[in-house]
Amino acid sequence: MLALQGDFREHVATLARLDVAAFEVRTLEQLHAADGLIIPGGESTTIARLLLAFGLREPLRDRIASGLPVWGTCAGAILLAERAPGLDRPTLAVLDITVERNAFGRQVDSFEADLKIAGLEGGPFRGVFIRAPAILEAGPGIEVLARLEDGSIAAGRDGALLATTFHPELTDDLRVHALFAAMVEERLGEAEGGLARAEELSA
Ligand code: GLN
Repeated sequence: MLALQGDFREHVATLARLDVAAFEVRTLEQLHAADGLIIPGGESTTIARLLLAFGLREPLRDRIASGLPVWGTCAGAILLAERAPGLDRPTLAVLDITVERNAFGRQVDSFEADLKIAGLEGGPFRGVFIRAPAILEAGPGIEVLARLEDGSIAAGRDGALLATTFHPELTDDLRVHALFAAMVEERLGEAEGGLARAEELSA
């Protein structure tokens, strides 16, 4: 759990309810120990600044390039985006999406909406949006998992990378956290399989 700023405690509490072990990441050592990483909601400008200040931006980009599963919620989704024109600092630039910060204006800067999320069983997911960004464009590699009524994308995935513009950690619904935990498990299985194959080959 990236714990530089934002609502990381709520994510850790939600993961605990799923019996998923989680720890806070602020250092390089902690980053290297993680099998997956959640970037929380908060202030994308602050998180972007602290990623640079803590020397984590490049190492995190390297780990993402070698397959680390990462889920960004809200500000976290902004940090994953390749294009975030409203942010004056570099994002991680790893997900082929364009985000507009604070896209829903002042009057409705917070709202809830029922989302139909592809692959999630058990009916709609109550999305909590707080000064949320909108994903306005997604490249062909992005699997769109959910849209809002205005057509903007609320959840998208590219392989081991997941972005949601809403906050599942602020609801009692554990399904998106369970989805991400499954993505991490899947990746660990692949890594183990790869290791076993490498051992077989070198035997
Ligand atoms: N508006 C915030 C930003 O641009 C995101 C809000 C949130 O993460 N809830 O960083």
